[in-house]
Amino acid sequence: VGGKLKAAGEVGAGTAETVESRILVFVRLRPMSRKEKEAGSRSCVKIVNRKEVSLTEFASENDYLRLKRVRDSQFCFDSVFPDSTTQAEVYSTSTADLVEGVLQGRNGTVFCYGATGAGKTYTMLGTMENPGVMVLAINDLFSKVTQRNYSIKLSYLEIYNETVRDLLSPGSPLNLREDKQQGTVAAGLTQRSVYSTDEVMELLQKGNKNRTTEPTRVNETSSRSHAVLQVVVEYRSLDGTNLKRVGKLSLIDLAGSERALATDQRTLRSIEGANINRSLLALSSCINALVEGKKHIPYRNSKLTQLLKDSLGGSCNTVMIANISPSHLSFGETQNTLHWADRAKEIKTKTQTTANEEVLDQPDSETAVLVLELQRENC
Ligand code: ADP
Ligand code: MG
Repeated sequence: VGGKLKAAGEVGAGTAETVESRILVFVRLRPMSRKEKEAGSRSCVKIVNRKEVSLTEFASENDYLRLKRVRDSQFCFDSVFPDSTTQAEVYSTSTADLVEGVLQGRNGTVFCYGATGAGKTYTMLGTMENPGVMVLAINDLFSKVTQRNYSIKLSYLEIYNETVRDLLSPGSPLNLREDKQQGTVAAGLTQRSVYSTDEVMELLQKGNKNRTTEPTRVNETSSRSHAVLQVVVEYRSLDGTNLKRVGKLSLIDLAGSERALATDQRTLRSIEGANINRSLLALSSCINALVEGKKHIPYRNSKLTQLLKDSLGGSCNTVMIANISPSHLSFGETQNTLHWADRAKEIKTKTQTTANEEVLDQPDSETAVLVLELQRENC
């Protein structure tokens, strides 16, 4: 069905109206774990105020049990979440506005960055008792979308070892391709319509079980896999104007950002290690190129950056949540995470101010079915 495109993403007709803006960057500190306490951890992270965090470097003195303060570094972000922050608070500060935008036909992306064990999956997926951003976002959508002419569809994929896999119906690897209107899409990816929060949690937990597992010492599951949830919200007018509005929300649980460190199977894992570095390295090169205002941004260097292209440099509202542990034993990883989070603040993006809206020449099949159903009900 042909139609007049009023506005689309950057990759589309190029008619989306945008204002210059930047990625919003939040830092979430998780509580000290029992294991960290037992290992004699000292806290090296201090939340100074709602926006500032300080990181202390310690060095052991002659007697290695005594730690000496070496230096403090201060960082400033859009918000810093102390370890007492609830999942609902993280959601409402970081993501609720994006959900509002998606309902109005704009695109949004949230990604969690940090070392393995820093709290990315807890923040994104959470637990049954404490559901995370993915579940709270969809819950919020359900509560705001009461009319029948909205549809909510989910897809959930993994990038592991530079291979894209469908987490909702595992099978052969998927290819990425460029779509004029939708940007980068995984060809043949399952899209599931969803109707309730319970269904969503079940679907996501099942999907997470399909994430690639690797019995290494560092983590039992998927520290090298990136999980991407896409929620597409479609609105269709049923008053004969044939207006279709589409908003896409991408929620991403990135692989652990630590360098391929201590695993028991270093050699076995070296190929995968190189690839995981490829995706996260490519992400850092893209961040650097964007911050430096380079003309060429190397999105094509990895699957992850191909998928994130719109979110980093296109017209999308983007949020980064950097997850950190408080323990001085993770100082290096925390410093690395705060460094990249600090750098990401400098990325200039274009915030979309208009909707992805299309006026179809005639109703498409889904609209036609809806109109028929409503007519039948009204008889
Ligand atoms: P990652 O996905 O970054 O590897 P996880 O999200 O799996 O890390 O977190 C590691 C452990 O810490 C898990 O047991 C998780 O439940 C716990 N955890 C993480 N963040 C929090 C938090 N904010 N509050 C309570 N427990 C947390
Ligand atoms: Mg995880």
